[in-house]
Amino acid sequence: MDRGRLEESLFDLIRRASTSLPPDVVAAMRRGIAAEGEGASAGTSLELMLENAKQAREGTTPICQDTGALLFFVEYGPDFRQKEIEEAARAATVRATEEYILRPNAVDPVTGANSGNNLGPGSPDFHFNQRDEEGLRVRLLLKGGGSENVGAQYKLPDGRLKAGRDLEGVRKCIIDTVYNAQGKGCAPGVVGVCAGGNRGSSFGWSKEQLLRDLGDTNPDPVLAELENTLMEELNGLGIGPSGFGGKTTVLGVKIGKQHRLPACFFVSVSYTCWAYRKAFMSVQGGEVTYDWD
Ligand code: SF4
Repeated sequence: MDRGRLEESLFDLIRRASTSLPPDVVAAMRRGIAAEGEGASAGTSLELMLENAKQAREGTTPICQDTGALLFFVEYGPDFRQKEIEEAARAATVRATEEYILRPNAVDPVTGANSGNNLGPGSPDFHFNQRDEEGLRVRLLLKGGGSENVGAQYKLPDGRLKAGRDLEGVRKCIIDTVYNAQGKGCAPGVVGVCAGGNRGSSFGWSKEQLLRDLGDTNPDPVLAELENTLMEELNGLGIGPSGFGGKTTVLGVKIGKQHRLPACFFVSVSYTCWAYRKAFMSVQGGEVTYDWD
């Protein structure tokens, strides 16, 4: 695939992510509306969010004014070069910013200067994996700042939470994060979790859980059961859409794990808001496909 077509495809990926809510998220919000029941204000809040998303899609405008940080998760075969993918993604990011698909969101923490084009050290955030098979797979998350702020990392045991070094401790950490996110993270949210790992890898893996489909089942039956239990518990907190009360506090709980050092037990929780922007694309034999329209 030539560089110009790759850049164009990645621009399209960014446009789709920023302006179109994925079908699994829309379906989860519809389930939330049904759960809230006729005339409930929480259901009305969800309907307004869906209407907002519909108008964004129809007008090709961002779903939220904060278009978030760009996280690219890339798997590429021998027919692609990492450097070229990265250059094309950077160029697509600049164009998306110029065309108001993205808000300029990259700020130098020392000078306070905004780069104006979403480029800078760590922006976009790339995660590359080389594979043996030919082709390219790119998954993009646009992660809003308000929801990023309410993510949390715990070191078990945690005396404040009375959380030990076990799955019950993990459960307490997740509940604590969602409880503390109320009024801040633009609920209903989705939580991506990593149990274990080191401080860096754990947060990275928690974000990768947000790439899962909301309707999937965790292949680890123990974690699958914990996800189901937490869905019920978290939606029983009463926080609800936008924090105004209701039965729909989260749309999904996705938990992964990494091996840990004997001395460490980290739990990382990444929270994303209802404006859960993700888009996936594949390139095979020169043909570009997106996972949904
Ligand atoms: S947390 Fe999400 S919905 Fe709320 S302002 Fe940020 S991007 Fe928008």
